Amino acid sequence: GPLPPALPQPAAIAAAAATRLERRDRSALRPLFNLTGTVLHTNLGRALLAEAAIEAATAAMRETIALEFDLASGRRGERDAHLRALLCELTGAEDATLVNNNAAAVLLALNTLGAGREAIVSRGELIEIGGAFRMPDIMARAGVALVEVGTTNRTHARDYRAAIGPGTGLLLKVHTSNYRIEGFTSEVPNAELAAMAREAKVPLLNDLGSGTLVDLARWGLAPEPTVRQAVEEGADLVTFSGDKLLGGPQAGFLVGRRDLIAAINRNPMKRALRVDKIRLAALEATLKLYRDPDRLAARLPTLRLLARQEAEIAAQARRLLPALAPLLPAGFTAEAVPCRSQIGSGALPLDTLPSCALRLSAASGRALEALAAALRDLPRPVIGRLREDALLLDLRCLEDEAGFLASLAQLPHALA
Ligand SMILES: *Cc1c(COP(=O)(O)O)cnc(C)c1O
Repeated sequence: GPLPPALPQPAAIAAAAATRLERRDRSALRPLFNLTGTVLHTNLGRALLAEAAIEAATAAMRETIALEFDLASGRRGERDAHLRALLCELTGAEDATLVNNNAAAVLLALNTLGAGREAIVSRGELIEIGGAFRMPDIMARAGVALVEVGTTNRTHARDYRAAIGPGTGLLLKVHTSNYRIEGFTSEVPNAELAAMAREAKVPLLNDLGSGTLVDLARWGLAPEPTVRQAVEEGADLVTFSGDKLLGGPQAGFLVGRRDLIAAINRNPMKRALRVDKIRLAALEATLKLYRDPDRLAARLPTLRLLARQEAEIAAQARRLLPALAPLLPAGFTAEAVPCRSQIGSGALPLDTLPSCALRLSAASGRALEALAAALRDLPRPVIGRLREDALLLDLRCLEDEAGFLASLAQLPHALA
């Protein structure tokens, strides 16, 4: 009769079981290679922390710290006190506080300054940021009535003036971080808005979004408003993110007038939005790096990656290409091509950075998608950018070349 089918060997069964267990144990939060070309990728966790920040966070996790304890007096202390002086020093503001993220900072500021009253904002600044942060919705939840002035492309001082009245709680300026209106446009300069707010005896809140603590022109990047500028231009309160251009962990900062910061700290919502000790430790260490701008790019990964020059990235691509090509599954080819990286997280949306990518191509679009899926399925996934006819691996954010090649070596030899 026919031979019975061969039984799997014990070693093969054990290997298959080990593979399944390993896959089941894999975390979606495991490290990956961000070769999307977007440095501050919100979906990939935004800023990478500086070593000093990682060490401070680790110590705060492992050891007891004086989080709300004043070591000098032995009495109860304040959790924000650790960062307040540093934030004032770096921004020129009178006072400062922080919460979970910038969306929370805006919510808390609006609620504190404007609950039951109106906030006046230009129609050109009613932004939506990814993840359902829409300025009008945030206002509604903050209990603030939205008063839109001007038009999408042009808003004038007279528009604000006409809207200011007894119901006005604040003027709101929003940095339109993730888009730009170009052409026949006009907006009111911050200093003029501040003067109008003072005259009306209401505060001006400036939501900078990313914001930055240093002039990025120094590293060849397009200028982004600094927090210090926003303070100097007369905003009573400025809000900005911890994990965008600042390069720290997720947080939202509020800096500005002492009486307003005090009111914010009294708002019961503040307690619900507070930052934990791990992030406070990491933030303090990150902010301290800004005291030494000369060494900032060397120490702060976000800035280091943004400042990388095209020639350096192109040299890296040429170096990697011969090692990478034989690791690709059958039917794929690779070449080095120039490309443009993005800062991401809404900062400087139109100012892309010249970079270099490994361009992977295949006979069909379906093959390319299969390759992208295989790269995502690696123990250390590689995430690129799919174009119609190729998969681009922008090398701007690749620092661990050996690890990258070791990951690619685990690709299957052929894709189904
Ligand atoms: C990003 C951004 C926010 C939200 O900040 P998160 O830190 O992501 O919460 C708010 N306003 C503006 C203008 C932004 O760019």
